[in-house]
Amino acid sequence: VTALIVYGRPEWRARWSACLHAHLPDLDIRTPENPGNPADITCLLGSIPPEGFAALYPNLRVIFSEGAGVDIILGLRLPPQVMVVRIVDDTLSAMMTEYIVWSVLTLHRNIPAYRASQTAHQWQRIPATLAANRRVGILGLGALGTDAAHALRRFDFTVAGWSRSPRDVDGVACYHGADMLDSFLARTDILVCLLPLTPETRGIIDAELLARLPRGAAFINAARGGHVVQEDLIAALDEGQIAHAILDVTTPEPLPPENPIWAHPGITLTPHVASIATPESASASIAENIRRLEAGSPLLHLADRSRGY
Ligand code: NAP
Repeated sequence: VTALIVYGRPEWRARWSACLHAHLPDLDIRTPENPGNPADITCLLGSIPPEGFAALYPNLRVIFSEGAGVDIILGLRLPPQVMVVRIVDDTLSAMMTEYIVWSVLTLHRNIPAYRASQTAHQWQRIPATLAANRRVGILGLGALGTDAAHALRRFDFTVAGWSRSPRDVDGVACYHGADMLDSFLARTDILVCLLPLTPETRGIIDAELLARLPRGAAFINAARGGHVVQEDLIAALDEGQIAHAILDVTTPEPLPPENPIWAHPGITLTPHVASIATPESASASIAENIRRLEAGSPLLHLADRSRGY
């Protein structure tokens, strides 16, 4: 019988346990308060493993992240035999797609400018642009970026995506690699970041990248705060290179009260709520991976430790 230890907030642990037991009634689920013999434990569920977990659980084989991002886990010193699994899940993708569609439509339909007009009691119309004439560019064409791209296509936006390796997504102009980044940016009116945070992508949204977008472009970040050089984004907003930014993620989180993002008129901020994996939905794939582990089969949705995602 596999023994799995669940970390995280107590109410979430109870939900994970109930949902995992619905799929695998015999799974031996432990908690940090009642770990039993730590040498039994082969699986850990949680996005922030405890300090010294490797020494604590010498037979650990798999860490299941509670979310799609595994940057924190991969940033830890992991023993070579430990595999890291991220969550790929329809509910998580659908929720992220809602957020991206909401934010693209908000920018496309000039809602930040209308909000400012309302505050100033000004009845001021802005000529509308057809969705087909609005070019959205998605950095990251993985599980989340691809789902969002399909949804935006249904509104008739002109959509492109950028990935590390070549991708083929129906109706989406696909760019990849550093060499194609310039042409991708030059054709992008609304830039969406859905990249994983890796040594290669940290700080990718800097002054140089923002300057390569058409003047007055908009920016949406629903990935990680670490992708953005905050001073560069604020400077680009202040001088009009970027018209508006919608940020779900910041560095640090929570954002300190004195941070300039709070009061910036060119920024709409949400507190890292774009999408979350629910135990009710994501337990099925974790259970499937535990069955695979027991059968000695390859696991699904493994993070590649050398790539960093
Ligand atoms: P994923 O399936 O691993 O996709 C990542 C995409 O980024 C892939 O297309 C990948 O290229 C591309 N990529 C990675 N490194 C790159 C590089 N150096 N240059 C160009 N492209 C690169 O990840 P996902 O499941 O879509 O999740 C994306 C991120 O969203 C997560 O890592 C997490 O940080 C964030 N997230 C945020 C929230 C929130 O609530 N704000 C919720 C969930 C997830 P390849 O296709 O070539 O591999």
